Amino acid sequence: MTDPLELRGELEQALSLAAREAAAYTGGLAEEPVLDPAAEGLLDGFEAPLPEHGSGAIEALTELAGRGRQTATRSSGPRFFHFVMGGTTPAALGADWLTSAFDQVAYAWASSPLGSKLEGIAVRWLRDLFELPEEFAGVLVSGATMANFTGLIAARSWWAQQLGFDADEAGLAGAAAPRILSSGYLHPSAAQAIGMLGFGRANIRRLSRDSAGRLDLEALAAELAEPHAEGPAIVIANAGEVNAGDFDPIEAIARLTREHGAWLHVDGAFGLFARLAPESRHLGAGIEHADSITVDAHKWLNVPYDCGYAFVRDPSAHADALSPLGAAYIVYGSAERDEFRWVPEFSRRARGFPTYAALRSLGRVGVREMVEGGCRLATRMADGLRGSGVEILNDVVLDQILARFHPADGGDADACTRQVISRVQADGTCWLSGTTWHGMAAMRISIVNWSTTEEDIDRSLAAILEAVRGE
Ligand SMILES: *Cc1c(COP(=O)(O)O)cnc(C)c1O
Repeated sequence: MTDPLELRGELEQALSLAAREAAAYTGGLAEEPVLDPAAEGLLDGFEAPLPEHGSGAIEALTELAGRGRQTATRSSGPRFFHFVMGGTTPAALGADWLTSAFDQVAYAWASSPLGSKLEGIAVRWLRDLFELPEEFAGVLVSGATMANFTGLIAARSWWAQQLGFDADEAGLAGAAAPRILSSGYLHPSAAQAIGMLGFGRANIRRLSRDSAGRLDLEALAAELAEPHAEGPAIVIANAGEVNAGDFDPIEAIARLTREHGAWLHVDGAFGLFARLAPESRHLGAGIEHADSITVDAHKWLNVPYDCGYAFVRDPSAHADALSPLGAAYIVYGSAERDEFRWVPEFSRRARGFPTYAALRSLGRVGVREMVEGGCRLATRMADGLRGSGVEILNDVVLDQILARFHPADGGDADACTRQVISRVQADGTCWLSGTTWHGMAAMRISIVNWSTTEEDIDRSLAAILEAVRGE
């Protein structure tokens, strides 16, 4: 089986098989249930001792695709509303296949000019799409978690520099932790990044004015106005909170951070897309004043997992943080990008392929319509629920809906909401889950998939209302 000629002979067959299976899978996304209840039991079919002698590519792929199709979570289908998950547009999925087939190492210009070129263009187009100033450089990472890490490690370099030391070379031993300020909307992945940076997650101060986590802007202003020995503060603002889709008041925060010389990092994993549509643009106003910005591609841009973007304004903080070679001799943002200086990895896949293809295929208008479509469908769903007497807890400003269900006899709404959620999941027409918001149980619905139609919303709405009527 290790005869190279024999392996080469398998290649074309393997690729055709993968294409056939992928087409069958994606073709069934709209109708097949999100998760076969028997799927978990079938997973054990994969179990076996390490084979002594391999089965060959065709058998391996046939088994993977066959059992895989039975057990995969169809989260890229049109009625999957759990978490905040996009699907995969045709161009992005095709480009993702080519990423693997061409197997470019997007480490530096020297390892793949093609990889660097496409990533550079993708970043320029994204800056244009999100209307960010040109001085921002961007890099492609695995998702918002690593984008938060990338933005915040640049913040760490900058902060240490203000205090007269080099955190990247010398480490943090003996240094006081900086003030890290946010609202209760802070995503756990940003806290994870703060932990990875050695700042200590417990040092994050969440300045909330209510149990939903809304920012106490006055407390932030007072905190920033006070001089502190720990140097300038690092403020993390949240654009698109994962329950209600709400935003911190970014314009006001940016005014404060500029006035007091603090670093502003904005986590806009899906919320940055609000800037594309006239109706939601105001929510993301002020993000252009940030020092670093996080956004995901595998959410609202609907490229396959995994892909996110980090934008950082200050090139020296950015390169100092992530390259042992520092920023010397490089022209920031030049055509010849050496990605490894700006990202947390050395070797990495050419994530620029799917983003390039997604933006090229959809254009500014296509991406905007995808965002507007999600918002319109979220409003349709919320209106439909409300019209049937269901309580909608949040202002549906974007793609997120929080619904709460009250029993007819005026009993326990938490228990009722959880019961409706589990009935909807058991029915399988659509897939969604629950959360706790303001101390109340709520059904959470997120609509960011490019392929969701009005009919999908109406069918899902009917299934939810059927679940309300009960057994
Ligand atoms: C999804 C999300 C994250 C984490 O993103 P990953 O891509 O899963 O790493 C961070 N912040 C916000 C606001 C999110 O919605």
